[in-house]
Parts: sequence; structure tokens; C-alpha cells
Amino acid sequence: MQETMIKRAKELLADGTVSRVIGWKKGEFGYDSTPAVFETAEELDRDFVFDDFTASNVSKYLVKESRKDGKILAFLKPCDTYSFNQLIKEHRVIRENVYIIGIPGGPKLDVEKIKAKGITGILNKKNENYTLKIETLYGTETMMFYEAICGKCQDCKSKKHVIYDELIGEDGDVLDSSRFDMVEKLENMTAQERFDFWREQLSKCIRCNACRNVCPACTCEKCVFDNPKSGIENKAPSDSFEENMFHIIRAFHVAGRCTDCGECSRVCPQNIPLHLLNRKFIKDINELYGEYQAGADLTSKSPLTDYDTNDCEPSIVHERGVE
Ligand code: SF4
Ligand code: SF4
Ligand code: SF4
Repeated sequence: MQETMIKRAKELLADGTVSRVIGWKKGEFGYDSTPAVFETAEELDRDFVFDDFTASNVSKYLVKESRKDGKILAFLKPCDTYSFNQLIKEHRVIRENVYIIGIPGGPKLDVEKIKAKGITGILNKKNENYTLKIETLYGTETMMFYEAICGKCQDCKSKKHVIYDELIGEDGDVLDSSRFDMVEKLENMTAQERFDFWREQLSKCIRCNACRNVCPACTCEKCVFDNPKSGIENKAPSDSFEENMFHIIRAFHVAGRCTDCGECSRVCPQNIPLHLLNRKFIKDINELYGEYQAGADLTSKSPLTDYDTNDCEPSIVHERGVE
């Protein structure tokens, strides 16, 4: 797949269709690739990578990249295309300046899950019949492939590309995912148990802002959390109120726009399951306003920015109960 992608990118650069390519660049090790922009065939040959560790979503980078001169080629996985569609709807990217090639999705791997098995000094890995053979400084280790799958791919909602100019490989289908199972478990807890769960999770937050910075729904040029007069600008939370506040405000800001891309949880250095907060909002929107998937198309209106007489009344909160 990687070779096919590089070949096609070079063709589109050579014939002038695009002037730049966004994809993933090799890191220092075999597992730390990062999003990167390539301008020449030489750069693509030298640094471009697409493998089990290229989980990151490059859509958000297109907010700035699509405003530069010339067209950019973007390789988007199925989940990434939902983010890109949503960014078009919010007028955050210039569609005409992006040439999209849809590429197959995961499952991608999470190196932290490999390290959690006590495997260190990782150099490279091979997938042989669903077994990972991991070359390390200290010899070869093995583990089952499924044990290292990153969280967002475990609960994949769709293998279907919802926007593209061309595809490499076959398109997939929207999946019948189990992504709301954990939300239901939380709903079945008592209010105190839920509160305790979230306090335990959110108390680990170091306010590194990685979740906000990676989120394709967080593209405000002036974020409330960067307001120097707020008293909470770019600082670690000083108490539980501030810990809760950051996450509750952010979850409300992205409600109805969050595509459930899973990037916030993927990048959190404290392994806080942030996606569960957003999924609760998605599940409630589905139940109260009808099924809605942000980013699935370019025309539907988000239930939270639209009104119709069948909309639920505010009293629904009391009717549903708080326990
Ligand atoms: S990425 Fe994690 S630690 Fe960083 S601000 Fe977000 S929740 Fe907190
Ligand atoms: S809140 Fe998380 S899951 Fe939702 S769009 Fe942002 S990064 Fe993706
Ligand atoms: S937290 Fe709110 S204000 Fe800040 S970038 Fe996200 S949506 Fe915008």
C-alpha cells in the first residue's frame, strides 16, 4: 500500500495536479510516525510512511494547508473523511484546494499497549497470522495483534469513505459497532458511581491541551482556554473544579460536531477515555433528536443547530431521571 501511495503522489506532483502532499513521516523509531507535508518526489521516497502505526488523522492540518497557494493531496482513512466533511460544513477548509485519496483504514496499533506488556527497546514489528513479532534491542518478542489495536480502531464505526476524489483499494461499509457499550455501562451506574468514575479519570489531567489541539472539531482561532483574562489559560488545573470545567466545556463545544474520530483519547498522555464523554453526547442526540452522524454528509443540519417541533423539551432531563 505504501509504495502505491508514494507512486500516485509522485504522479500527481509531476503532472501539476497538486503542489504538496500531506501524509505521515517516519519518526526516530518504527512506531512514532507523525503527520507531515511533502513537496518533492525525493522527500516522499525518503520519509513517507504508511503502516500499522499511522493512526493520526491529518484532516485538521488542512484548515491551514488548504488556505495556502496550490492544491494539496491528502491521504484520508475512512474515519478521517468524516472529520474532513465536518470541516467543510463548518467552512474551515477550502474543499477545492484539496485532492483527496481515500485509503484503507486500520486497525492501527497503539505502541503504548505493546509497552504495557513489558516490551521495550522496540525497533520494528511484523504481523504474521495475527501475531505481532516485535524486534527489540533485546531480542524478538511476540504478542497477539488484537491486543495492540488502538482504542479508536477497536470501536470503528465505518470503513466507508464519505468523501474522496479517488480511492486506493476497496471502499468498505458503515459498521454496526459496539461503540456505545461502555457508555451504557456508565449510564447504568448510580450518579455517585459515575461521578467517582469521572473524578478518578479527570483528576489525572495535566492540561497539556493535546486533546484540544488534535481535535478536528476544535478549530477556533481564539479558544476560550487561551483567553489570558480567564485565569485558566495554559495552566495545569489547580483543583477538581478546573479539572472538570475544561472537559465539560470542551465536550459541550464539540457536541453535535464531534465525529467520534477518537483522536482525543488516542493522544492523551494520561490515557483518559475522553471519547466516552463525547459518545454520551452522541448517544443522547441519537435518542432525543433521531440518529445523526456528524460528518457523514455535507448537507444535513446538526440537531443542535436546527429546530423542529418534534425536538425534545428541556424537561426531558427530569423525565429521564438523574440516577
Ligand atoms: S490530552 Fe489528556 S492530559 Fe492533556 S489536556 Fe487532554 S485530557 Fe488532559
Ligand atoms: S472530541 Fe475527540 S472524538 Fe470528537 S472530534 Fe474531537 S478528537 Fe475526535
Ligand atoms: S475548546 Fe471550545 S473554544 Fe476551544 S477550540 Fe475547542 S471548541 Fe473552540
